[in-house]
Amino acid sequence: MLKKERYKEFVDYFSTHNPDAQTELNYSNPYELLVAVILSAQCTDKRINQVTPMLFERFPNVESLAASNPEEVFTFIRSVSYPNNKAKHLVGMAQKLLSEFSGEVPEKIEDLIKLPGVGRKTANVISSVVFHQPAMAVDTHVFRVSNRLGLTSNATTPLAVEKQLVKYLPKDTIAIAHHWLILHGRYTCLARRPKCEECAITYMCRYFEKTHKTLSINISTNKDT
Ligand code: SF4
Repeated sequence: MLKKERYKEFVDYFSTHNPDAQTELNYSNPYELLVAVILSAQCTDKRINQVTPMLFERFPNVESLAASNPEEVFTFIRSVSYPNNKAKHLVGMAQKLLSEFSGEVPEKIEDLIKLPGVGRKTANVISSVVFHQPAMAVDTHVFRVSNRLGLTSNATTPLAVEKQLVKYLPKDTIAIAHHWLILHGRYTCLARRPKCEECAITYMCRYFEKTHKTLSINISTNKDT
C-alpha cells in the first residue's frame, strides 16, 4: 500500500469510528491541563487522574501554585513518577506563568517551552488541545503506532515522526490524529504484544503486512517439507 493510501485509510477509519477522540486526562481549564500534562510524563493518565482532584482543590489556580513550594506540592503527587522533579517543575512553571505571561497559559510553542517541565511534546499537547492548532505531540504510543502502521518511515526521533505526520495528515485532522494514535496504542497496539488478532485496521498496517507475510511463508515452507 502506498503511503498516501495508508494515510487516507487511517483518516477514513478513525474519522468514522472515533470522531470525538480526546485526552483521557481530567481537567477543566488550560492551567489544569498544563499541570496534568506535565505530571503525565512517564506516567499513566489513570494515575494522574487519581492525584489531580486533591491537587487542584489545594491549588485551584496559577497564583496558589506559584505561592507554594516543591515540598508541599510533593505531598500531593508522591505517587506519580519522578515526584521530586515534577513538584519543582510545577512551582517553577506557575511562577514563570505569573512573571512572564500574566498568569495565562501561552499559545505559542516557543513560549510554552520556556516553562519549566514543558518540552516540545507537552507544548504540542497544549497547543492542539487548548488552542486547536495543528500540532502533533509525539509520545511513546504515537511514535510506536505510527511506525508500525507505516505512517512514518525511518523516523528515529520524536521530531522526525512529528514532521512526517504533520506533512502527510490533512491539516484539520492533525490534532485529533494524536488522540487516535495514543488510544490505539494504549488499548490495542500494545508495546510488547500488539493485539493484532482483535485489531480492526490490520488491512492498512505495515507491521501486520510484514509479519503476516512471514507467517504465510513459514507455513508454506513447513508444508513443503
Ligand atoms: S495490526 Fe497489530 S501492529 Fe498493526 S496497528 Fe493493529 S495491533 Fe498494531
